[in-house]
Amino acid sequence: LMQLAVPLNFIGFIYREIRQGLTDIENMFELLDVKQEVEDRPGARTLVVSQGAIRFDDVHFAYDPERAILKGISFEVPPGKTVAIVGPSGAGKSTISRLLFRFYDIQSGSITIDGQDVRDVTQKSLRAAIGMVPQDTVLFNDTIAYNVRYGRVDASEEEIRKAAELAQIGPFIESLPDGYRTMVGERGLKLSGGEKQRVAIARTILKAPPILILDEATSALDTHTEQEIQAALDMVSRGRTTLVIAHRLSTVISADEIIVLKDGRIAERGTHRALLDSGGLYAQMWDRQREATEAEERLRIARETD
Ligand code: ADP
Ligand code: MG
Repeated sequence: LMQLAVPLNFIGFIYREIRQGLTDIENMFELLDVKQEVEDRPGARTLVVSQGAIRFDDVHFAYDPERAILKGISFEVPPGKTVAIVGPSGAGKSTISRLLFRFYDIQSGSITIDGQDVRDVTQKSLRAAIGMVPQDTVLFNDTIAYNVRYGRVDASEEEIRKAAELAQIGPFIESLPDGYRTMVGERGLKLSGGEKQRVAIARTILKAPPILILDEATSALDTHTEQEIQAALDMVSRGRTTLVIAHRLSTVISADEIIVLKDGRIAERGTHRALLDSGGLYAQMWDRQREATEAEERLRIARETD
């Protein structure tokens, strides 16, 4: 019984922290991450985001020294622009977002935001500057309003409603019998993957961070949901420096630059048009995905006419 008491206590501690609004999404990672991978340097400064320029310069990284994951990655996301990272599963795409958050330290090279190395600033200020819409959003067993407000605990009800509208989930919430007071999560209403993702987008709209990371859901969403989510994501990334980790190539067409990652190296880079014209890896991925979408569409039509 004693063995169980400690973890339960810990969970209780996290729960109270969250209830009291002391914790934001990024701090939650710290709370849940029992083993702290990196620590602030003595005298670490507060990150000051003036423009929001991200720069990876010859970044080498391995989780395990025996196996290199990123082998010399260099790219920039200019202020307010969008860069998309695509590539096969396991290529290192999500690793790039974890490194920007400094969940791990790199072996060599540098990662900077407005010229400040992420290793020289406090993790708290770094994580406060970055908003993340993850692949899989965790909801709390609380009201939907609470779950949206989590993005910024001092937000007013009006601001919550506005954020939900922008995230394309307002009408859905209002259609529920208890509206914004509907209980969600494990012990409440279960939301679909697409709905949860829109709650995460609403949170991020409230947080209004200068830098944004979107890690798109891998699960195939139906075309209509995908379009709604795309509209919501376009909304939240407007005017913000955005790094998109994209599984669905349809969402990267408008990116300022697309980086194709393969085996920890940048295999190709350019705009959608240029990459298609060059007929390389990206063009192949594009063709394959289009065939899959068309096959799916034919299947759907066949089912509907049954
Ligand atoms: P992607 O997002 O492109 O699918 P990831 O960046 O998640 O790929 O992972 C890149 C590689 O690193 C994969 O081979 C994965 O197994 C490995 N990896 C990811 N996270 C860890 C970890 N915490 N420890 C060890 N290896 C990891
Ligand atoms: Mg990934």
